[in-house]
Amino acid sequence: MWLRLFGYFKAVRTFIYVLTAFLCVVFLVIFSGIYKNSHDLIMNVVHEQAESYFDLIVKTRLWNSNYGGVYVLKNHDVESNPYLQQLGIKSDMRCEDGISLTMRNPAIMTKEISKLMEKSGVTFHITSLKLFNPENKPDDFETSALKRFEKGEKEAWQVDRSGNKPVYRYMAPLYVEQSCLACHHNQGYKIGDIRGGINVNIPVGHIDEQLTRSKYILIATGIATLILIIAVIYFMSKTLILRLEEARQTMRKQALVDELTQVYNRRFLMKKLKSEFDRSTRYGTGLSLVMIDIDFFKNINDTYGHLFGDLVLARAAHMIQDNLRSYDVLARYGGEEFMIVCPDSDVNEAKAVADRVHEKLKQEVISDDTHTTSITISAGITERRPDDTMDTLLSRVDTALYQAKLTGRDKIVIL
Ligand code: GH3
Ligand code: MG
Ligand code: MG
Repeated sequence: MWLRLFGYFKAVRTFIYVLTAFLCVVFLVIFSGIYKNSHDLIMNVVHEQAESYFDLIVKTRLWNSNYGGVYVLKNHDVESNPYLQQLGIKSDMRCEDGISLTMRNPAIMTKEISKLMEKSGVTFHITSLKLFNPENKPDDFETSALKRFEKGEKEAWQVDRSGNKPVYRYMAPLYVEQSCLACHHNQGYKIGDIRGGINVNIPVGHIDEQLTRSKYILIATGIATLILIIAVIYFMSKTLILRLEEARQTMRKQALVDELTQVYNRRFLMKKLKSEFDRSTRYGTGLSLVMIDIDFFKNINDTYGHLFGDLVLARAAHMIQDNLRSYDVLARYGGEEFMIVCPDSDVNEAKAVADRVHEKLKQEVISDDTHTTSITISAGITERRPDDTMDTLLSRVDTALYQAKLTGRDKIVIL
């Protein structure tokens, strides 16, 4: 029922639609802002982690190159670095006591540390556009990062989703330092040149899952809150609409019903009479009018006061109403005058109604705490004739009532 009314009160409906759309947009903005913020925060942490790995490895390499490479024990599973020969460096040496040593320069040290780190998932890759070791060939991301470093950029990063699990790839340039030139002077480097870069790869699969989880939690929370708010708005609008409807009904009723007597007013009577008149014209059905006026009503007012007069009017209306057929329509026509429209009725049927009302009113004693009275009525009756207009019909019933008054009151005259 309220949904039907919801359609009826268009302004309320539009307001609720607009409010709902507005809330959806606000929630979308708030929740996507929250999501973006937490995403950026987490990615910043990963970025800083990658930067510190990078710094650590650069410092370790510096430590190594400051010594011009360091020698390690050459056990059976320790290989010599073949590329050192190309740099004109003797990689292996045997001590006087027979112990064999082999050199670990920064490049192979980085590679070996990276291997050790593999278990934790973090890997390093040292690479350059001017390659020594073809195994260190840069991939697409690294190549583009190295080219950007040459144009002055200081770092590059991306989340690589091409593999099974996403990886955060961070890369920064390696600059030529004094200690590098000991081995790399042949390649034409100067101090401060970019001689390559280190790519730090940090797996972010768990972070991605966590972000996806928080995204779904945020979406669910957003939707639940939105539904709750919209439900409250709809519930409140339902109450509002039902109240509006009640007020509308009351106003409609007030527009049609006489306040004192609670029977229809003259405005409604004229509408009803018009529609019944038209119907009787269309279908040739009968239509009769009974016009009632309380006799010597002025005396009641004068004797008992206006308030008691009001009570008498209301009681009289009530009694008339109680003695009608279901399809007769009663209205207050004027001060103490009432009109009964009797559809589908000839003058005899209307007379039967009028007689009943006449008798009942005469028998009734009307009283309040202080006064008691009884009343009589005079009535005029007429039925619709083929050549009638509404005006002639009304004027004839008025004349009938006038004759009843003229000829002694407390009677019914048919014209
Ligand atoms: P008659 O028998 O010729 O009809 O005499 P009457 O006194 O009934 O008629 P008259 O037209 O002289 O007086 C009608 C009175 O009805 C006058 C007016 O003050 C009173 N009246 C009209 N409307 C109301 C009302 O709402 N309340 C009260 N208390 N009196 C009303
Ligand atoms: Mg009167
Ligand atoms: Mg009168």
